[in-house]
Amino acid sequence: MNQPGQWARLIFLASKFAEGTLVLASLADASYRVHAMARINENFLKLQAGYLFPEIARRVNAFSDAEPEKTKRLIRCGIGDVTEPLPLAARTAMKEAVDELGERGSFRGYGPEQGYDFLRQAIADNSYQGLNVEADEVFVSDGSKCDSGNILDIFGVGQRIAITDPVYPVYVDTNVMMGNTGEGDESGQYGGLVYLPCTAENNFTPALPQEKVDLIYLCYPNNPTGTVATREQLEQWVAYAREHDAVILYDAAYEAFVQDPDLPRSIYEIEGARECAIEFRSFSKNGGFTGTRCAFIVVPKELTGSDGSGGRVSLHGLWARRHSTKFNGVSYPVQRAAEALYSSEGKAEISKLVEHYMGNAALLKSACENCGLDVYGGEHSPYVWVRCPEGVDSWAMFDRMLHEAQVVVTPGAGFGAAGEDYFRISAFNSRENVEEVCARLGAMLG
Ligand SMILES: *Cc1c(COP(=O)(O)O)cnc(C)c1O
Repeated sequence: MNQPGQWARLIFLASKFAEGTLVLASLADASYRVHAMARINENFLKLQAGYLFPEIARRVNAFSDAEPEKTKRLIRCGIGDVTEPLPLAARTAMKEAVDELGERGSFRGYGPEQGYDFLRQAIADNSYQGLNVEADEVFVSDGSKCDSGNILDIFGVGQRIAITDPVYPVYVDTNVMMGNTGEGDESGQYGGLVYLPCTAENNFTPALPQEKVDLIYLCYPNNPTGTVATREQLEQWVAYAREHDAVILYDAAYEAFVQDPDLPRSIYEIEGARECAIEFRSFSKNGGFTGTRCAFIVVPKELTGSDGSGGRVSLHGLWARRHSTKFNGVSYPVQRAAEALYSSEGKAEISKLVEHYMGNAALLKSACENCGLDVYGGEHSPYVWVRCPEGVDSWAMFDRMLHEAQVVVTPGAGFGAAGEDYFRISAFNSRENVEEVCARLGAMLG
């Protein structure tokens, strides 16, 4: 036996073993690091890249690079943002509140997360007069956009969700983020959602879902179609929700624009709605608060959801817990400003704003009609929903309006597959701009 050779072999084997251990150790370390890395919510990867408003901005920017002269006459009727100044009543209340904060004796720190009693009471007394909504069922927030997304926190994942099509994109995208949908297709529809098409053919009245759904998003007056629901239609929804143990998420952001006193402004005008509906409201569109930020939701105490094993749980309690854990309330001056919208001066100023925007809507509606287009909405909402001329799809119409008239509208397809043949014109603008848009529409299509 060759002793030295054996030693050499042993040393060689030992060194190989050590090397292997090192390799294994570093592999283990690498895999440890892969697992320890912050993992993203993969649902976000399902979101479609071309979210509506960024795509509009991209096309407008490309146009302004190519046509700097024409861009100077651009009029934006795309995004639904108010244009008229903040009501004096709100500004005065806000300034006074700021001064209060500047004195030791009247200084305030953190307020109640759900909102100050003065505002919750003003909302219950004025917005829900005669509808039995209590101040402590009102939760003040910084916006309906946030509320309509955040509300999903208190519902389980994997619910069956019904949404109208076309629709306010926030309802869809927040459900995608929560994991309530499958993948999206090229028309922008996601697997797993129950789409309820609203077109001229069904008079923009969605049919009740054929199957059982758990959550139903309704928005009246509607963004984008500008259409309203009658009392009878809402009664059918409330009956459906109660029969199927579903919750209606009722977005009434445009309630102030309803002109006909017989049309419902709140879901709680419908009997039984307190057992099946949450209502979302905002000061953004009536009081011009899109930059000031204040809104609220109503969660009636009767409303419950299932705990999955036959028990019923109060949604009011869950939302109170969620809101006080993740939110610290709207700033005091802003809540005072919102309260002032309910003063007689504030109400008069809101009426004037609504009258102004509805005057714009009437002008836009008749200008489109004079061009021979089919026009919907614009009677109880600041949105006019127009059918594109025969053979022109909604993005092609968007491009034509941009290139030929320098008017930015919103293509219907951006709100859902069923919006493909339509475009939306927003009445949130100055009268001067609206008159100019009407003239350009006439010159382009008339
Ligand atoms: C503008 C709008 C709102 C209001 O959103 P805020 O976050 O309160 O400004 C809510 N819902 C719809 C459908 C809207 O168009």
